[in-house]
Amino acid sequence: MWIVLSVCSAVVILFASCQIDEGNSSAHPFSSGAVVEQRPPQARPCATATVAPPATTTRASSLSPPAIEFCIETLSSLPGKFSLPKIQQICAEVRHMPECNSALGKNIYHYQKDGKLGGLRILVLGVMHGDEPMSGSLSRAWMERLVDLLPRNSWRIIPVSNPDGLKLSTRTNANGVDLNRNFPSKNWNGEALAFWKRKEKRNPRRFPGKLPAGEKETVCIMKQILEFMPNLIVAIHTPLGVLDFDGPKVQYPAYKHLPWIRLGNFPGSLGRYMWHDRKVPVLTIELKGGDPLQKVVELDRLQDISGVLATMASRRGGPSVTDD
Ligand SMILES: [Zn+2]
Repeated sequence: MWIVLSVCSAVVILFASCQIDEGNSSAHPFSSGAVVEQRPPQARPCATATVAPPATTTRASSLSPPAIEFCIETLSSLPGKFSLPKIQQICAEVRHMPECNSALGKNIYHYQKDGKLGGLRILVLGVMHGDEPMSGSLSRAWMERLVDLLPRNSWRIIPVSNPDGLKLSTRTNANGVDLNRNFPSKNWNGEALAFWKRKEKRNPRRFPGKLPAGEKETVCIMKQILEFMPNLIVAIHTPLGVLDFDGPKVQYPAYKHLPWIRLGNFPGSLGRYMWHDRKVPVLTIELKGGDPLQKVVELDRLQDISGVLATMASRRGGPSVTDD
């Protein structure tokens, strides 16, 4: 009885802690870089918790019928095979947070499947770069798999983080900003634009924006992180064909199709912002460009690896491998 009561108390305390963070965050806690840096890392109090969040979020809502059609249309447009009935089921179940709209007003929706009590929280981001649609295909495959599973961990998947870029076939969002350089890392103000000018030779594909967290899509992802408080973030990209982990030192799970290679991070990148600054680990999956999607079992294996990595990382609060 004591154990049960203790666990329940822990659940209440953790939920209360999360709700307090939400309550303190006001309407737009990430509306400027200055505000972000003044706040303590919001993901930390619950990031190492081992209790799953509630089954549904308080602020997200179901999609309207036209938005459900947009979801089906978008997911069906991604390369590779899929099950239309499952996509229809997923789009009927996806949720939308009020902050999650693109520059052109498209919904950035998410699918959530809660795990058994005690599971970890894994947030998956697909199509942060609009010209990498295969990253959405992997997200779609994982959602299709989750429909029929009671997973150990809780998964929240944003299959298309940059819907305008997907529509326009551009890496950037509709404002010409590389979202993976727009996160308000501690070094953004001093380095992001200088790095872009000096190292990137003003490559428009990697423009970090005029302000940290100045893009709606970036703010959406930050709000998702704040609400879901993931133990691990999985960011899916193409075309480098590698696995890259920003997190504590762990024994990497074997995956024969993609090598583990350190890519480093950049001012305003998700890895820099979440792991280097806030110690929430980030797995970057860089699928091979040009190759057809791997067989289903191999895509499943990638998802399982993510779960294993989340478990290992949660047990190891060890030194950063990216501190420099
Ligand atoms: Zn990318």
